[in-house]
Amino acid sequence: MLKERKALYPGSFDPPTLGHLDLIERAAKIFDQVVVAVARNDAKVSLFSIEERVEMLIEGTGHLENVSITSFEGLTVDFARDIGAMALIRGLRVLSDFEFELSMAINNQKLNPEVDTVCLMPSEPYLFLSSRQVKEIAALGGKVGHYVTPQVEARLRAKKLGK
Ligand code: ADP
Repeated sequence: MLKERKALYPGSFDPPTLGHLDLIERAAKIFDQVVVAVARNDAKVSLFSIEERVEMLIEGTGHLENVSITSFEGLTVDFARDIGAMALIRGLRVLSDFEFELSMAINNQKLNPEVDTVCLMPSEPYLFLSSRQVKEIAALGGKVGHYVTPQVEARLRAKKLGK
């Protein structure tokens, strides 16, 4: 029998955007299983707690049978090995993403040559969409309904961000 193809999509997801969800949906068509994992990174200041980010991702992916959500700490490649993932999913939006993703992919390759990095391009409407910009727009009172799910929009509002 063929081995199940499992991919790990790691990230901050602070908060998850429609760009993240689009990538998850597309990765779920390519791989048998996709594990989306919120990375615990104490060096980064985040708006939402790990638990809130996991909840938002669960809410956004409930319709996808082969997608599961979790969190992790430590090296991404170690977590990938622990869960039996053969690939890391990352997104490449603009040229500036490329240098960062390339250096991370090469370092991860050195750390664990068994796990490869697969980069997907965003769908066109999400090309310039980032969690950081969503937070900035919301903080300035702008509407973010085109960028996140209604549930995420409500959570931003509950943090006294957004209209
Ligand atoms: P990180 O802090 O790991 O970069 P992010 O949550 O910002 O976490 O992003 C996780 C991954 O998703 C990154 O590879 C990023 O390039 C990708 N990504 C973020 N937003 C989008 C988007 N709108 N379209 C496609 N990929 C995206």
